[in-house]
Amino acid sequence: MSKLKEVDPEVYAAILGETKREAFQLELIASENFVSEAVLEALGSVMTNKYAEGYPGRRYYGGCEYVDIVENLARERAKKLFGCEHVNVQPHSGSQANMGVYFCVLKPGDTILGLSLSHGGHLTHGSPVNFSGKFFKVYFYGVRKDTEVLDYDEILQIAKDCKPKMIVTGATAYPRILDFVKFRQIADEVGAYLMADIAHIAGLIIAGIHPSPVPLADFVTTTTHKTLRGPRGGMIMCKEKYAKELDKEIMPGIQGGPLMHVIASKAVAFKEALQPSFKEYQIQIVKNAKALAQELLNYGYHVVAGGTDTHLMLVSFVEKGITGKVVEEALDKAGITVNKNTVPFDPQKPFITSGIRIGTPAVTTRGMKETEMRKIGRFIHETISNLGNEEVYKKIRKEVEELCREFPLYKERLEEGSK
Ligand SMILES: *Cc1c(COP(=O)(O)O)cnc(C)c1O
Repeated sequence: MSKLKEVDPEVYAAILGETKREAFQLELIASENFVSEAVLEALGSVMTNKYAEGYPGRRYYGGCEYVDIVENLARERAKKLFGCEHVNVQPHSGSQANMGVYFCVLKPGDTILGLSLSHGGHLTHGSPVNFSGKFFKVYFYGVRKDTEVLDYDEILQIAKDCKPKMIVTGATAYPRILDFVKFRQIADEVGAYLMADIAHIAGLIIAGIHPSPVPLADFVTTTTHKTLRGPRGGMIMCKEKYAKELDKEIMPGIQGGPLMHVIASKAVAFKEALQPSFKEYQIQIVKNAKALAQELLNYGYHVVAGGTDTHLMLVSFVEKGITGKVVEEALDKAGITVNKNTVPFDPQKPFITSGIRIGTPAVTTRGMKETEMRKIGRFIHETISNLGNEEVYKKIRKEVEELCREFPLYKERLEEGSK
C-alpha cells in the first residue's frame, strides 16, 4: 500500500489499524470471516473501473471482454458449488439479493411470511423499519418458548391463516438445522413461493454439513462474505423458469452497473470453495462451534436451543439479569469481538438485548481448533464473571493477543506496515 501511504496517510493509518485489530483480537462475530490474499487482490483490481450494465455477451457498454470472463467464471463455479439451474452474481449485497427476488415475483401489498427478527430472522424478512416491511404485508413465525427451536406445525398453521404469496426461510441467528423439506411442504400446501436465504450457512451447505434448499426452493439467496469466505456481496440462485425475469429485476430493476472487481473476487472465492480443503474448513467450523457451546454450557450459561448444529450460538443472560450490551462492551475491552443479539422472547430492546451471538468461521480460518475454543470459552467466562474489572480485562486481552500470535493473520501486510 505504498501509494496509499503517500497519497492519503489518514486512510492508510486507519486501514493499518484495522489490519492490526483483525490480527490481534478474537473475531467471533458469526457473520464475519477473513478472505484470502488472492480474494483481496482481485477486489483491489482495475476491474473497479469498468461499466458493464447487462450480462456476459449482452452488455450495454463496449470493452467488456475481460469482465465477461470473470462473470462467466463466477457463474459457472457457483453452479458447480450449489448445483443450481440459474445464478445471478451481481447483487451488491445480501439485502439487494432479497429485494431482487421479492420484486421479481411479488407486487407491493402482497403478503410474505418470515422468521421474526427477534427470533433470529433478518431485517429484509419483513421488519417494519426495512423496505420489506414497508412494501409488503408481513406475518411472522418464531421459535417455541420451551425448546427455542422452530415448530413446523405452528408455521403451517400461521401460513394457512395468513395465506402468504411467499414464505421466507433463513436466519441470521438461529443455531439449529433448518428443515427445508418441511418449508417446501408448507409452501405447497398454501400455494406460496419459497425463498431460502442461506446468507449465514452457504459454506456449510457447500460442504454438505447442512441440507441444501437449492433443489426445493424457488429462489435461494446468499451473501458471499460469511461462511462462504468471499468478498462482501450477494448472489441469487433460482429455477431456470425464473431466470429471465430475475436477471431483469436485478438490472435494470434495482441496480445499475455491477461491481466487476467484486464479481472477479467472488469468482476467486468460489474457486477456493471448490477445493477439498474448503469442506474440511467448514467441518472444523462446526466442530469448533460445538466445542465452544459445550464449554459455555459447562460454565452454566444458557445457550439458546441447548447448543448448535451450525457455526453460531446464542447465549442468553435473561436469567443472570445482565444485558447483551454490557457483555459486548466488556468482551471488546478484553480483545474479543462479538455482537449483542436479541434472544427469543427477549425482555430488552434491540439496542440493549439480553444476549450475545458467537460464531466460529473467522477463528477457524486462522487455524484454531477445539483446544483453542475451550480457551476462548474460559476467556469469555472470566470476563463476564468480572464485569467492570479493568484489571481482568487487561489480563485477558494479553492472553488473547498471545493466542492470536500463535495463529497469525495477514502477516506480510503487517510486516509491510511496520516499515
Ligand atoms: C447477512 C444477511 C443478509 C444481508 O446481507 P447484507 O450483505 O448485509 O445486506 C440477509 N439475510 C441474512 C439471513 C443474513 O444473515
